[in-house]
Amino acid sequence: MRDGHIHTPYCPHGTLDSLKEYVEKAIHVGYSTMTFTEHAPLPPSFVDPVPDKDSGMNAQDVEQYLKDLNGLKAEYEKDITIFAGFELDYISGYEKETEAFLTQYGPELDDGILSVHFLQGNSGWYCLDFSPDMFREAVLDFGGIEQMYEAYFRQVRASIETDLGPFKPSRIGHMTLIRKFHELFPSPSNWQQMAVEVLRSASDHHVELDYNGAGTQKPHCNETYPTKPIAEQAHAMGIPLVYGSDAHSASGLKQGYQQLSNVCR
Ligand SMILES: [Zn+2]
Ligand SMILES: [Zn+2]
Repeated sequence: MRDGHIHTPYCPHGTLDSLKEYVEKAIHVGYSTMTFTEHAPLPPSFVDPVPDKDSGMNAQDVEQYLKDLNGLKAEYEKDITIFAGFELDYISGYEKETEAFLTQYGPELDDGILSVHFLQGNSGWYCLDFSPDMFREAVLDFGGIEQMYEAYFRQVRASIETDLGPFKPSRIGHMTLIRKFHELFPSPSNWQQMAVEVLRSASDHHVELDYNGAGTQKPHCNETYPTKPIAEQAHAMGIPLVYGSDAHSASGLKQGYQQLSNVCR
């Protein structure tokens, strides 16, 4: 039982549950391997579009975060394998700063996730999973939901295809995150074709997919990222899927696990 996507008290929009609480809970629910993937600090020149500017961890805390994880690895060596990583944002136009971060800290990492949360519309940047209100603004700015979906899946493909150096994360985060509010803003009818293009790219570039349970707990989503049919297609194409709880609290570990497709577990 492996969970490859877990947040920590270093997350400014998460809970203050301690790292030990996460590890103890993980052992309790039967994990054998867990990766801590805190949101990496955003590129220094990128302006976080969310009101509290709390999408990424504080750059000053990175050293302590890695030190804490090294301590935990030693302390729990006999009980569970703990990997150190980040959930890194792929932000179009900020690749150089992203690669610089990886060059600096990559040698200390065991695993990691690359995600798209931010999209640039015609007049500004949006965090696509922040709130229904921000999502609505983004749809208007893109000139429609289909245009926004196209921009999103294009970004996810770019995240797979762009060279970010030798420490680039091996796994793509929640590849259908744009469906977080799909019960409020129905997806365009051709969205699955867009998702399948991502699968082709993932297969060609030998990346793994985060099979993320968090959406099952979101009131307007109620499904995993990716959805079951897309996950099964990925599996059939030989793309590795790694379960990710995306927990922002110790109690969030294993969330959505029961809803995963059996063939991909
Ligand atoms: Zn988060
Ligand atoms: Zn994420």
